Amino acid sequence: MYSETGHYIHGEWVRSGPVFDSENPSDLDDPIGRFHAARTEEVEAATEAARQAFHAWSFSALETRQEILDRIGQALCASADELGLLVAREEGKTVAEARGEVFRAGQFFRYYAAEALRPTGELVPSVRPGVQVEVTREPVGVVGIITPWNFPVAVAAWKVAPALAYGNCVILKPSEKTPAAACALAEIIARSDLPDGVFGMLNGDGAGAGQALCSSPGIDAVSFTGSVATGREIARVATERMVKVQLEMGSKNALVVLRDADLDLAVQCAINGAYFGTGQKCTASSRLVVERAVCEPFVEKFTEAARQLRVGHALEPETQIGPVIDRQQLDKNLEYLEIGRAEGATLAFGGECPERPTRGYFMQPALFTGGNNDMRLNREEVFGPIACVLEADDYEHALAIANDTEYGLTAGIITRSLARAAHFKRHAEAGCVMVNLPTAGTDYHVPFGGRKSSSFGPREQGQYAKEFYTVCKTAYVNA
Ligand code: NAD
Repeated sequence: MYSETGHYIHGEWVRSGPVFDSENPSDLDDPIGRFHAARTEEVEAATEAARQAFHAWSFSALETRQEILDRIGQALCASADELGLLVAREEGKTVAEARGEVFRAGQFFRYYAAEALRPTGELVPSVRPGVQVEVTREPVGVVGIITPWNFPVAVAAWKVAPALAYGNCVILKPSEKTPAAACALAEIIARSDLPDGVFGMLNGDGAGAGQALCSSPGIDAVSFTGSVATGREIARVATERMVKVQLEMGSKNALVVLRDADLDLAVQCAINGAYFGTGQKCTASSRLVVERAVCEPFVEKFTEAARQLRVGHALEPETQIGPVIDRQQLDKNLEYLEIGRAEGATLAFGGECPERPTRGYFMQPALFTGGNNDMRLNREEVFGPIACVLEADDYEHALAIANDTEYGLTAGIITRSLARAAHFKRHAEAGCVMVNLPTAGTDYHVPFGGRKSSSFGPREQGQYAKEFYTVCKTAYVNA
Protein backbone atom coordinates (compact mmCIF):
# COMPACT_ATOMS: atom_id res chain seq x y z
CA MET A 1 0.00 0.00 0.00
CA TYR A 2 1.38 3.40 -1.04
CA SER A 3 0.08 6.03 1.33
CA GLU A 4 0.07 9.66 0.19
CA THR A 5 2.84 9.42 -2.36
CA GLY A 6 4.08 12.72 -3.77
CA HIS A 7 5.90 13.89 -6.88
CA TYR A 8 9.53 13.20 -7.67
CA ILE A 9 11.22 16.57 -8.15
CA HIS A 10 14.96 17.31 -8.10
CA GLY A 11 15.79 13.97 -6.52
CA GLU A 12 13.22 14.34 -3.70
CA TRP A 13 9.73 13.02 -3.06
CA VAL A 14 7.55 16.11 -2.57
CA ARG A 15 4.05 15.92 -1.12
CA SER A 16 2.12 18.99 -2.23
CA GLY A 17 -1.07 19.75 -4.10
CA PRO A 18 -4.55 18.27 -3.69
CA VAL A 19 -4.87 14.51 -3.12
CA PHE A 20 -6.63 11.85 -5.15
CA ASP A 21 -7.05 8.09 -4.72
CA SER A 22 -6.27 5.12 -6.93
CA GLU A 23 -8.62 2.12 -6.86
CA ASN A 24 -8.33 -1.58 -7.53
CA PRO A 25 -10.76 -2.39 -10.39
CA SER A 26 -10.92 -6.05 -9.23
CA ASP A 27 -11.88 -5.08 -5.67
CA LEU A 28 -13.20 -1.63 -4.86
CA ASP A 29 -12.75 -2.41 -1.14
CA ASP A 30 -8.98 -2.64 -1.61
CA PRO A 31 -7.84 0.94 -2.27
CA ILE A 32 -4.35 1.21 -3.77
CA GLY A 33 -3.24 4.51 -2.30
CA ARG A 34 -3.49 8.28 -2.16
CA PHE A 35 -1.50 10.61 -4.39
CA HIS A 36 -0.88 14.31 -4.82
CA ALA A 37 -1.90 16.13 -7.99
CA ALA A 38 0.61 18.57 -9.45
CA ARG A 39 -0.35 22.21 -9.95
CA THR A 40 1.50 24.90 -11.89
CA GLU A 41 3.96 25.40 -9.00
CA GLU A 42 5.01 21.72 -8.98
CA VAL A 43 5.33 21.76 -12.78
CA GLU A 44 7.53 24.86 -12.54
CA ALA A 45 9.70 23.31 -9.82
CA ALA A 46 10.20 20.12 -11.85
CA THR A 47 10.98 21.93 -15.12
CA GLU A 48 13.36 24.30 -13.33
CA ALA A 49 15.21 21.32 -11.81
CA ALA A 50 15.35 19.61 -15.21
CA ARG A 51 16.67 22.74 -16.96
CA GLN A 52 19.40 23.08 -14.36
CA ALA A 53 20.40 19.43 -14.79
CA PHE A 54 20.24 19.45 -18.59
CA HIS A 55 23.64 20.90 -19.52
CA ALA A 56 25.67 18.43 -17.47
CA TRP A 57 23.50 15.44 -18.46
CA SER A 58 23.57 16.32 -22.15
CA PHE A 59 27.40 16.27 -22.02
CA SER A 60 27.62 13.27 -19.67
CA ALA A 61 29.88 10.35 -20.59
CA LEU A 62 28.15 7.79 -22.78
CA GLU A 63 29.22 5.00 -20.43
CA THR A 64 27.62 6.82 -17.50
CA ARG A 65 24.30 6.83 -19.34
CA GLN A 66 24.77 3.24 -20.44
CA GLU A 67 25.50 2.04 -16.89
CA ILE A 68 22.60 3.93 -15.30
CA LEU A 69 20.07 2.78 -17.88
CA ASP A 70 21.28 -0.79 -17.59
CA ARG A 71 20.96 -0.60 -13.79
CA ILE A 72 17.35 0.61 -14.12
CA GLY A 73 16.65 -2.15 -16.64
CA GLN A 74 18.12 -4.87 -14.43
CA ALA A 75 16.19 -3.57 -11.41
CA LEU A 76 12.93 -3.57 -13.37
CA CYS A 77 13.49 -7.13 -14.65
CA ALA A 78 14.34 -8.28 -11.11
CA SER A 79 11.20 -6.63 -9.73
CA ALA A 80 8.87 -8.12 -12.37
CA ASP A 81 7.14 -10.37 -9.80
CA GLU A 82 6.65 -7.73 -7.11
CA LEU A 83 5.87 -4.77 -9.36
CA GLY A 84 3.78 -7.04 -11.59
CA LEU A 85 1.47 -7.71 -8.65
CA LEU A 86 1.02 -3.96 -8.09
CA VAL A 87 0.31 -3.36 -11.80
CA ALA A 88 -2.23 -6.21 -11.81
CA ARG A 89 -3.87 -4.80 -8.68
CA GLU A 90 -4.07 -1.24 -9.96
CA GLU A 91 -4.63 -1.69 -13.72
CA GLY A 92 -6.58 -4.95 -13.60
CA LYS A 93 -4.60 -6.98 -16.13
CA THR A 94 -3.73 -10.54 -15.14
CA VAL A 95 -0.60 -11.17 -13.06
CA ALA A 96 1.06 -12.94 -16.01
CA GLU A 97 0.37 -9.96 -18.30
CA ALA A 98 1.52 -7.49 -15.66
CA ARG A 99 4.76 -9.37 -14.95
CA GLY A 100 5.42 -9.52 -18.66
CA GLU A 101 4.85 -5.78 -18.94
CA VAL A 102 7.34 -4.95 -16.16
CA PHE A 103 9.93 -7.31 -17.60
CA ARG A 104 9.45 -5.71 -21.02
CA ALA A 105 9.91 -2.26 -19.43
CA GLY A 106 13.26 -3.52 -18.10
CA GLN A 107 14.20 -4.72 -21.58
CA PHE A 108 13.53 -1.24 -22.97
CA PHE A 109 15.99 0.27 -20.49
CA ARG A 110 18.60 -2.39 -21.21
CA TYR A 111 18.19 -1.96 -24.96
CA TYR A 112 18.60 1.84 -24.75
CA ALA A 113 21.56 1.38 -22.40
CA ALA A 114 23.31 -0.23 -25.36
CA GLU A 115 21.92 2.34 -27.82
CA ALA A 116 23.56 5.09 -25.75
CA LEU A 117 26.93 3.80 -27.02
CA ARG A 118 25.97 3.54 -30.69
CA PRO A 119 27.65 6.20 -32.88
CA THR A 120 25.06 8.41 -34.57
CA GLY A 121 26.97 11.07 -36.55
CA GLU A 122 27.95 11.32 -40.21
CA LEU A 123 31.03 12.82 -41.82
CA VAL A 124 30.48 13.69 -45.50
CA PRO A 125 32.35 15.70 -48.10
CA SER A 126 30.91 19.09 -49.02
CA VAL A 127 30.03 20.07 -52.57
CA ARG A 128 32.66 22.78 -52.02
CA PRO A 129 36.23 21.49 -52.40
CA GLY A 130 38.22 21.52 -49.15
CA VAL A 131 35.15 21.73 -46.95
CA GLN A 132 33.87 18.88 -44.79
CA VAL A 133 30.37 18.47 -43.42
CA GLU A 134 29.62 16.90 -40.03
CA VAL A 135 26.09 15.89 -39.21
CA THR A 136 25.69 15.29 -35.49
CA ARG A 137 22.77 14.66 -33.18
CA GLU A 138 22.18 16.58 -29.97
CA PRO A 139 19.56 16.06 -27.28
CA VAL A 140 16.34 18.08 -27.62
CA GLY A 141 16.34 19.37 -24.03
CA VAL A 142 13.66 18.80 -21.39
CA VAL A 143 11.03 16.35 -22.62
CA GLY A 144 7.52 16.15 -21.17
CA ILE A 145 6.22 12.58 -21.30
CA ILE A 146 2.49 11.93 -20.91
CA THR A 147 1.32 8.33 -20.66
CA PRO A 148 -1.93 6.32 -20.50
CA TRP A 149 -3.04 3.76 -17.91
CA ASN A 150 -3.19 0.58 -20.01
CA PHE A 151 0.58 -0.10 -19.95
CA PRO A 152 1.52 2.10 -17.00
CA VAL A 153 5.12 0.88 -16.76
CA ALA A 154 5.97 -0.18 -20.33
CA VAL A 155 4.79 2.95 -22.18
CA ALA A 156 6.64 5.17 -19.69
CA ALA A 157 9.75 2.97 -20.12
CA TRP A 158 9.73 3.07 -23.93
CA LYS A 159 9.72 6.87 -23.80
CA VAL A 160 11.87 7.63 -20.72
CA ALA A 161 14.68 5.19 -21.67
CA PRO A 162 15.47 6.66 -25.14
CA ALA A 163 14.99 10.21 -23.85
CA LEU A 164 17.70 9.64 -21.20
CA ALA A 165 19.94 7.58 -23.50
CA TYR A 166 20.17 10.46 -25.99
CA GLY A 167 20.98 12.98 -23.22
CA ASN A 168 17.62 14.61 -22.48
CA CYS A 169 16.05 15.41 -19.14
CA VAL A 170 12.55 14.06 -18.57
CA ILE A 171 9.38 14.93 -16.71
CA LEU A 172 6.91 12.06 -16.68
CA LYS A 173 3.19 12.74 -16.14
CA PRO A 174 1.55 9.30 -15.87
CA SER A 175 -2.17 8.60 -16.03
CA GLU A 176 -4.17 9.58 -12.96
CA LYS A 177 -5.71 6.07 -13.13
CA THR A 178 -2.44 4.22 -12.45
CA PRO A 179 -0.28 6.50 -10.25
CA ALA A 180 1.03 3.72 -7.99
CA ALA A 181 2.61 1.82 -10.90
CA ALA A 182 4.26 5.04 -12.10
CA CYS A 183 5.54 5.84 -8.59
CA ALA A 184 7.06 2.37 -8.33
CA LEU A 185 8.86 2.94 -11.65
CA ALA A 186 10.01 6.37 -10.44
CA GLU A 187 11.35 4.78 -7.23
CA ILE A 188 13.45 2.34 -9.25
CA ILE A 189 14.77 5.19 -11.41
CA ALA A 190 15.43 7.25 -8.24
CA ARG A 191 17.73 4.50 -6.93
CA SER A 192 19.84 4.44 -10.10
CA ASP A 193 22.30 7.29 -9.35
CA LEU A 194 20.85 9.50 -12.06
CA PRO A 195 21.84 13.09 -11.21
CA ASP A 196 19.08 15.07 -9.45
CA GLY A 197 16.69 16.81 -11.82
CA VAL A 198 17.42 14.60 -14.85
CA PHE A 199 14.26 12.61 -14.22
CA GLY A 200 11.14 14.01 -12.55
CA MET A 201 7.62 12.65 -12.13
CA LEU A 202 4.41 14.58 -11.52
CA ASN A 203 1.09 12.95 -10.75
CA GLY A 204 -2.30 14.42 -11.54
CA ASP A 205 -4.97 14.50 -14.22
CA GLY A 206 -4.82 15.78 -17.77
CA ALA A 207 -6.75 19.00 -17.26
CA GLY A 208 -4.44 19.98 -14.38
CA ALA A 209 -0.93 18.52 -14.38
CA GLY A 210 -1.00 17.39 -18.04
CA GLN A 211 -2.02 20.75 -19.49
CA ALA A 212 0.32 22.66 -17.18
CA LEU A 213 3.24 20.47 -18.29
CA CYS A 214 2.49 20.79 -22.02
CA SER A 215 2.18 24.56 -21.85
CA SER A 216 5.21 25.09 -19.61
CA PRO A 217 7.91 27.23 -21.24
CA GLY A 218 10.46 24.90 -19.61
CA ILE A 219 9.53 22.01 -21.92
CA ASP A 220 11.27 21.55 -25.31
CA ALA A 221 9.31 18.53 -26.57
CA VAL A 222 6.25 16.45 -25.67
CA SER A 223 5.86 12.72 -26.24
CA PHE A 224 2.30 11.55 -25.65
CA THR A 225 0.41 8.26 -25.76
CA GLY A 226 -3.35 8.26 -25.26
CA SER A 227 -6.60 9.07 -27.03
CA VAL A 228 -6.94 10.99 -30.29
CA ALA A 229 -8.95 13.78 -28.64
CA THR A 230 -6.20 14.45 -26.07
CA GLY A 231 -3.50 14.09 -28.74
CA ARG A 232 -5.15 16.79 -30.87
CA GLU A 233 -5.26 19.17 -27.90
CA ILE A 234 -1.61 18.49 -27.03
CA ALA A 235 -0.57 19.00 -30.68
CA ARG A 236 -2.37 22.37 -30.69
CA VAL A 237 -0.57 23.56 -27.55
CA ALA A 238 2.81 22.20 -28.69
CA THR A 239 2.66 23.70 -32.17
CA GLU A 240 1.60 27.06 -30.76
CA ARG A 241 4.80 26.99 -28.71
CA MET A 242 6.70 25.42 -31.67
CA VAL A 243 8.06 22.51 -29.64
CA LYS A 244 8.55 19.00 -31.00
CA VAL A 245 5.60 16.70 -30.50
CA GLN A 246 5.14 12.94 -30.89
CA LEU A 247 1.68 11.40 -30.53
CA GLU A 248 0.68 7.72 -30.32
CA MET A 249 -3.09 7.41 -30.19
CA GLY A 250 -6.16 5.27 -30.69
CA SER A 251 -7.01 2.55 -33.17
CA LYS A 252 -9.65 0.28 -34.68
CA ASN A 253 -7.43 -2.54 -35.85
CA ALA A 254 -8.64 -5.28 -38.19
CA LEU A 255 -7.67 -8.96 -38.26
CA VAL A 256 -8.42 -10.47 -41.68
CA VAL A 257 -9.19 -14.21 -41.83
CA LEU A 258 -9.06 -15.72 -45.31
CA ARG A 259 -10.78 -18.89 -46.52
CA ASP A 260 -7.42 -20.74 -46.66
CA ALA A 261 -6.57 -19.91 -43.04
CA ASP A 262 -5.81 -22.42 -40.32
CA LEU A 263 -9.04 -21.69 -38.44
CA ASP A 264 -7.69 -22.82 -35.07
CA LEU A 265 -4.82 -20.37 -35.44
CA ALA A 266 -7.25 -17.68 -36.62
CA VAL A 267 -9.42 -18.14 -33.53
CA GLN A 268 -6.41 -18.16 -31.21
CA CYS A 269 -5.10 -14.92 -32.75
CA ALA A 270 -8.55 -13.29 -32.75
CA ILE A 271 -9.24 -14.14 -29.08
CA ASN A 272 -5.78 -12.93 -28.09
CA GLY A 273 -6.06 -9.70 -30.08
CA ALA A 274 -9.64 -8.87 -29.19
CA TYR A 275 -9.86 -9.84 -25.54
CA PHE A 276 -6.51 -10.24 -23.80
CA GLY A 277 -5.64 -7.26 -21.65
CA THR A 278 -9.48 -6.92 -21.44
CA GLY A 279 -9.38 -5.46 -24.97
CA GLN A 280 -7.67 -2.39 -23.54
CA LYS A 281 -4.71 -2.37 -25.92
CA CYS A 282 -4.07 0.12 -28.70
CA THR A 283 -3.09 -2.91 -30.80
CA ALA A 284 -6.30 -4.87 -30.05
CA SER A 285 -8.27 -6.24 -33.01
CA SER A 286 -11.88 -5.22 -32.54
CA ARG A 287 -12.79 -5.78 -36.22
CA LEU A 288 -12.60 -9.42 -37.33
CA VAL A 289 -12.88 -9.35 -41.12
CA VAL A 290 -13.65 -12.90 -42.21
CA GLU A 291 -14.11 -14.27 -45.73
CA ARG A 292 -17.73 -15.36 -46.08
CA ALA A 293 -16.77 -18.95 -47.06
CA VAL A 294 -15.35 -19.58 -43.54
CA CYS A 295 -17.42 -17.16 -41.50
CA GLU A 296 -19.77 -19.71 -39.98
CA PRO A 297 -17.12 -22.18 -38.77
CA PHE A 298 -14.96 -19.28 -37.58
CA VAL A 299 -17.77 -17.79 -35.45
CA GLU A 300 -18.61 -21.24 -34.10
CA LYS A 301 -15.03 -21.99 -33.06
CA PHE A 302 -14.49 -18.45 -31.76
CA THR A 303 -17.62 -18.52 -29.61
CA GLU A 304 -16.69 -21.93 -28.23
CA ALA A 305 -13.22 -20.66 -27.26
CA ALA A 306 -14.56 -17.34 -25.87
CA ARG A 307 -17.00 -19.22 -23.60
CA GLN A 308 -14.03 -20.93 -21.92
CA LEU A 309 -12.39 -17.61 -20.97
CA ARG A 310 -12.32 -17.03 -17.24
CA VAL A 311 -13.21 -13.45 -16.25
CA GLY A 312 -12.23 -12.52 -12.73
CA HIS A 313 -10.05 -10.84 -10.14
CA ALA A 314 -6.72 -9.93 -11.70
CA LEU A 315 -4.74 -11.55 -8.87
CA GLU A 316 -6.45 -14.94 -9.09
CA PRO A 317 -4.17 -17.36 -10.96
CA GLU A 318 -6.97 -18.86 -13.07
CA THR A 319 -8.15 -15.46 -14.36
CA GLN A 320 -7.60 -14.88 -18.09
CA ILE A 321 -9.58 -11.64 -18.50
CA GLY A 322 -9.26 -9.09 -15.71
CA PRO A 323 -11.69 -6.28 -14.99
CA VAL A 324 -12.21 -3.12 -17.03
CA ILE A 325 -10.14 -0.19 -15.72
CA ASP A 326 -12.96 1.88 -14.14
CA ARG A 327 -16.67 2.64 -13.97
CA GLN A 328 -16.49 5.17 -16.80
CA GLN A 329 -14.89 2.64 -19.19
CA LEU A 330 -17.35 -0.10 -18.17
CA ASP A 331 -20.28 2.26 -18.83
CA LYS A 332 -18.75 3.12 -22.21
CA ASN A 333 -18.43 -0.59 -23.09
CA LEU A 334 -22.05 -1.26 -22.11
CA GLU A 335 -23.18 1.77 -24.12
CA TYR A 336 -21.42 0.38 -27.21
CA LEU A 337 -23.23 -2.94 -26.73
CA GLU A 338 -26.46 -0.93 -26.97
CA ILE A 339 -25.17 1.08 -29.93
CA GLY A 340 -24.21 -2.14 -31.75
CA ARG A 341 -27.65 -3.68 -31.13
CA ALA A 342 -29.45 -0.48 -32.15
CA GLU A 343 -27.42 -0.35 -35.36
CA GLY A 344 -28.61 -3.86 -36.25
CA ALA A 345 -25.65 -6.06 -35.31
CA THR A 346 -26.35 -9.29 -33.41
CA LEU A 347 -24.76 -9.86 -30.03
CA ALA A 348 -23.66 -13.46 -30.58
CA PHE A 349 -21.90 -13.89 -27.29
CA GLY A 350 -21.05 -12.21 -23.95
CA GLY A 351 -21.42 -8.67 -22.72
CA GLU A 352 -22.79 -9.60 -19.28
CA CYS A 353 -21.34 -8.17 -16.05
CA PRO A 354 -20.77 -11.32 -13.98
CA GLU A 355 -21.28 -11.31 -10.21
CA ARG A 356 -17.98 -11.92 -8.41
CA PRO A 357 -17.06 -12.30 -4.73
CA THR A 358 -15.46 -8.82 -4.87
CA ARG A 359 -16.97 -5.55 -6.10
CA GLY A 360 -15.23 -4.76 -9.40
CA TYR A 361 -15.74 -3.79 -13.03
CA PHE A 362 -16.08 -7.26 -14.54
CA MET A 363 -17.40 -7.82 -18.03
CA GLN A 364 -17.74 -10.94 -20.16
CA PRO A 365 -16.00 -10.36 -23.53
CA ALA A 366 -18.55 -9.77 -26.27
CA LEU A 367 -18.82 -10.73 -29.94
CA PHE A 368 -21.11 -9.14 -32.51
CA THR A 369 -21.97 -10.70 -35.86
CA GLY A 370 -24.01 -9.40 -38.79
CA GLY A 371 -22.40 -5.98 -38.51
CA ASN A 372 -21.05 -3.71 -41.21
CA ASN A 373 -18.11 -1.35 -41.32
CA ASP A 374 -20.27 1.79 -41.40
CA MET A 375 -21.59 1.17 -37.89
CA ARG A 376 -20.29 3.36 -35.08
CA LEU A 377 -19.43 0.10 -33.32
CA ASN A 378 -16.84 -0.53 -36.04
CA ARG A 379 -15.66 3.02 -36.64
CA GLU A 380 -15.13 4.34 -33.11
CA GLU A 381 -12.54 3.10 -30.63
CA VAL A 382 -14.30 1.40 -27.70
CA PHE A 383 -11.16 0.22 -25.86
CA GLY A 384 -12.95 -2.73 -24.29
CA PRO A 385 -13.37 -6.52 -24.85
CA ILE A 386 -15.86 -6.12 -27.70
CA ALA A 387 -15.24 -7.46 -31.20
CA CYS A 388 -17.40 -7.58 -34.33
CA VAL A 389 -17.21 -10.05 -37.21
CA LEU A 390 -17.41 -8.36 -40.60
CA GLU A 391 -18.09 -10.66 -43.55
CA ALA A 392 -16.03 -10.10 -46.68
CA ASP A 393 -16.79 -11.46 -50.19
CA ASP A 394 -13.13 -12.14 -50.97
CA TYR A 395 -9.58 -11.00 -50.18
CA GLU A 396 -9.87 -7.65 -52.02
CA HIS A 397 -13.08 -6.85 -50.15
CA ALA A 398 -11.46 -7.83 -46.84
CA LEU A 399 -8.48 -5.55 -47.53
CA ALA A 400 -10.81 -2.67 -48.41
CA ILE A 401 -12.74 -3.13 -45.15
CA ALA A 402 -9.53 -3.35 -43.13
CA ASN A 403 -8.30 -0.06 -44.62
CA ASP A 404 -11.66 1.73 -44.37
CA THR A 405 -10.99 3.42 -41.03
CA GLU A 406 -9.61 6.73 -39.80
CA TYR A 407 -7.01 4.77 -37.80
CA GLY A 408 -3.93 2.80 -38.86
CA LEU A 409 -1.92 1.31 -36.02
CA THR A 410 -1.85 -2.45 -36.65
CA ALA A 411 -3.47 -4.82 -39.15
CA GLY A 412 -3.30 -8.61 -39.26
CA ILE A 413 -4.02 -11.40 -41.73
CA ILE A 414 -4.39 -15.14 -41.23
CA THR A 415 -3.70 -17.03 -44.44
CA ARG A 416 -1.64 -19.88 -45.89
CA SER A 417 -1.06 -17.92 -49.11
CA LEU A 418 2.35 -16.29 -49.37
CA ALA A 419 1.09 -14.11 -52.24
CA ARG A 420 -1.87 -12.77 -50.24
CA ALA A 421 0.32 -12.20 -47.20
CA ALA A 422 2.83 -10.27 -49.30
CA HIS A 423 0.08 -8.18 -50.91
CA PHE A 424 -1.47 -7.43 -47.52
CA LYS A 425 1.88 -6.38 -46.02
CA ARG A 426 2.30 -3.88 -48.87
CA HIS A 427 -1.28 -2.57 -49.03
CA ALA A 428 -2.50 -2.53 -45.42
CA GLU A 429 -2.65 1.13 -44.34
CA ALA A 430 -1.15 0.50 -40.92
CA GLY A 431 2.14 1.13 -39.15
CA CYS A 432 2.55 -2.52 -38.07
CA VAL A 433 1.35 -5.55 -40.05
CA MET A 434 1.07 -9.06 -38.60
CA VAL A 435 0.92 -12.27 -40.66
CA ASN A 436 -0.46 -15.35 -38.88
CA LEU A 437 -0.04 -13.53 -35.55
CA PRO A 438 -2.36 -11.55 -33.29
CA THR A 439 -2.49 -7.78 -34.00
CA ALA A 440 -1.16 -7.20 -30.47
CA GLY A 441 2.41 -8.07 -29.47
CA THR A 442 5.42 -6.16 -30.77
CA ASP A 443 9.20 -6.17 -30.25
CA TYR A 444 11.23 -3.42 -28.57
CA HIS A 445 14.17 -3.09 -30.99
CA VAL A 446 12.17 -2.09 -34.08
CA PRO A 447 9.93 0.92 -34.79
CA PHE A 448 6.41 1.06 -33.40
CA GLY A 449 3.69 3.45 -34.49
CA GLY A 450 0.79 3.94 -36.85
CA ARG A 451 -0.66 5.97 -39.70
CA LYS A 452 -3.62 8.31 -40.14
CA SER A 453 -5.17 9.36 -36.80
CA SER A 454 -3.26 6.70 -34.84
CA SER A 455 0.10 8.49 -34.84
CA PHE A 456 1.67 11.86 -35.44
CA GLY A 457 5.37 12.61 -35.56
CA PRO A 458 8.42 10.34 -35.62
CA ARG A 459 8.23 6.66 -34.73
CA GLU A 460 8.91 5.28 -31.26
CA GLN A 461 11.18 2.39 -30.22
CA GLY A 462 14.28 0.81 -31.71
CA GLN A 463 16.88 3.10 -33.24
CA TYR A 464 14.06 5.14 -34.81
CA ALA A 465 13.41 6.76 -31.41
CA LYS A 466 16.42 9.02 -31.93
CA GLU A 467 14.48 10.94 -34.59
CA PHE A 468 12.30 12.43 -31.85
CA TYR A 469 14.74 12.56 -28.94
CA THR A 470 17.55 14.30 -30.85
CA VAL A 471 17.96 17.31 -33.14
CA CYS A 472 20.43 17.35 -36.04
CA LYS A 473 23.27 19.82 -36.32
CA THR A 474 25.12 20.33 -39.61
CA ALA A 475 28.62 21.76 -39.19
CA TYR A 476 30.80 22.93 -42.14
CA VAL A 477 34.56 22.88 -41.64
CA ASN A 478 37.08 24.48 -43.99
CA ALA A 479 40.00 22.24 -43.09
P1 NAD B 1 -6.24 9.82 -22.42
O1 NAD B 1 -6.02 10.57 -23.69
O2 NAD B 1 -7.50 10.04 -21.68
O3 NAD B 1 -5.07 10.14 -21.37
C1 NAD B 1 -3.72 9.89 -21.67
C2 NAD B 1 -2.85 10.80 -20.82
O4 NAD B 1 -3.06 12.15 -21.21
C3 NAD B 1 -3.16 10.74 -19.32
O5 NAD B 1 -1.95 10.84 -18.60
C4 NAD B 1 -4.01 11.99 -19.11
O6 NAD B 1 -3.95 12.49 -17.80
C5 NAD B 1 -3.34 12.95 -20.08
N1 NAD B 1 -4.17 14.08 -20.53
C6 NAD B 1 -5.52 14.12 -20.69
N2 NAD B 1 -5.89 15.35 -21.14
C7 NAD B 1 -4.75 16.09 -21.28
C8 NAD B 1 -4.48 17.41 -21.73
N3 NAD B 1 -5.44 18.23 -22.14
N4 NAD B 1 -3.20 17.83 -21.73
C9 NAD B 1 -2.19 17.01 -21.34
N5 NAD B 1 -2.40 15.75 -20.91
C10 NAD B 1 -3.66 15.29 -20.88
O7 NAD B 1 -6.04 8.28 -22.76
P2 NAD B 1 -6.19 7.03 -21.77
O8 NAD B 1 -7.64 6.80 -21.52
O9 NAD B 1 -5.28 7.18 -20.62
O10 NAD B 1 -5.60 5.84 -22.67
C11 NAD B 1 -6.35 5.15 -23.62
C12 NAD B 1 -6.00 5.62 -25.01
O11 NAD B 1 -4.59 5.46 -25.22
C13 NAD B 1 -6.65 4.80 -26.10
O12 NAD B 1 -7.14 5.67 -27.09
C14 NAD B 1 -5.52 3.94 -26.65
O13 NAD B 1 -5.69 3.52 -27.98
C15 NAD B 1 -4.37 4.86 -26.49
N6 NAD B 1 -3.09 4.14 -26.49
C16 NAD B 1 -2.31 4.23 -27.60
C17 NAD B 1 -1.08 3.55 -27.67
C18 NAD B 1 -0.22 3.67 -28.88
O14 NAD B 1 0.98 3.38 -28.79
N7 NAD B 1 -0.75 4.08 -30.03
C19 NAD B 1 -0.67 2.79 -26.56
C20 NAD B 1 -1.48 2.71 -25.45
C21 NAD B 1 -2.70 3.40 -25.42
